[in-house]
Amino acid sequence: MDSKPILMVGSMAFDDLEFPVPTPDAEGNLRTRFDDVVGGSATYAALAASAFAPVRVVAVVGRDFPEATLDMMRERHIDTAGIERADGLTFRWKGRYHTDLVNRDTLDTQLNVFANFRPKLAPGYGASPLVLLGNIHPALQLEVLEQIEKPELVVADTMNFWIGGEPDALARLIARIDLLIINDEEARQLSGIHNLARAAKEILTRGPKCLIIKRGEHGSLFFDSEGVFAAPALLLEHVVDPTGAGDSFAGGLLGFLARRGRYDHATMRRAMVHGTAAASFCVESVGTLGLRGLQHQQVTERVERIRRLTHVGDE
Ligand code: AMP
Repeated sequence: MDSKPILMVGSMAFDDLEFPVPTPDAEGNLRTRFDDVVGGSATYAALAASAFAPVRVVAVVGRDFPEATLDMMRERHIDTAGIERADGLTFRWKGRYHTDLVNRDTLDTQLNVFANFRPKLAPGYGASPLVLLGNIHPALQLEVLEQIEKPELVVADTMNFWIGGEPDALARLIARIDLLIINDEEARQLSGIHNLARAAKEILTRGPKCLIIKRGEHGSLFFDSEGVFAAPALLLEHVVDPTGAGDSFAGGLLGFLARRGRYDHATMRRAMVHGTAAASFCVESVGTLGLRGLQHQQVTERVERIRRLTHVGDE
């Protein structure tokens, strides 16, 4: 594959999910609760990015994490040498979705093996040109960043849990990255400003060269010194489980940039649309199912649908 490699760090998890409406499981039975669903920010981002580019994952799993998932990742040419199997239980997250299937409450977060994790990069990983610091403790994101020699592009994702719980470590991280990806509520929480245009302006004074604000079914906004770009979300008929959509968006975006090897404003605009298309496959099934077989061509087809969705035409 003619593409630069992406190094990513993030969580690998078991998720316990509660949905507002009955949802078919793999056997076709309708359920509102799904326990022990394999997820995590690194898992989603790696699966999405691997449709575009070689991926190296730095993470930790417990003894209970299925080897079959790691095998499936390896089949997608994801380098799992940086995934440590530690004594203990895998990270666990429990979430309940509201009736809009967009907003959700975190009911429980158990760091488990991530509590004592010290990321050590596998040989060769330190020379990775693109780095995705996926959602995990910002101190761990920083530890990984410090081990990369001369990254061309550093992207970080985070969430309310860390914005509220680890503001100092997060501030140190944000000062050192090129692109921050957060959702609208997190942008408001981080900046203390409700208006998104002004929140974005304020966040850009803290270090990152550019910022993406994700707005779920309303698409996403990109901000840098050249201006603003809005990418719509695809209008999907079957949205089942939005868990991991943000991570899949980041994975697809980085994957596209890794293929292009350039990070200018115009390329970022197109990367946003590829991230959106990758995320659309994620939300159509529970957990990572929609991403496991994802091919580049499928993403490209959905990018065309997004183009048509927003084509205004000439005067
Ligand atoms: P997203 O829906 O894109 O925000 O990502 C959902 C994934 O993030 C789930 O699979 C969770 O396992 C994972 N996750 C939830 N909370 C955290 C956290 N505090 N740190 C790292 N990963 C998390």
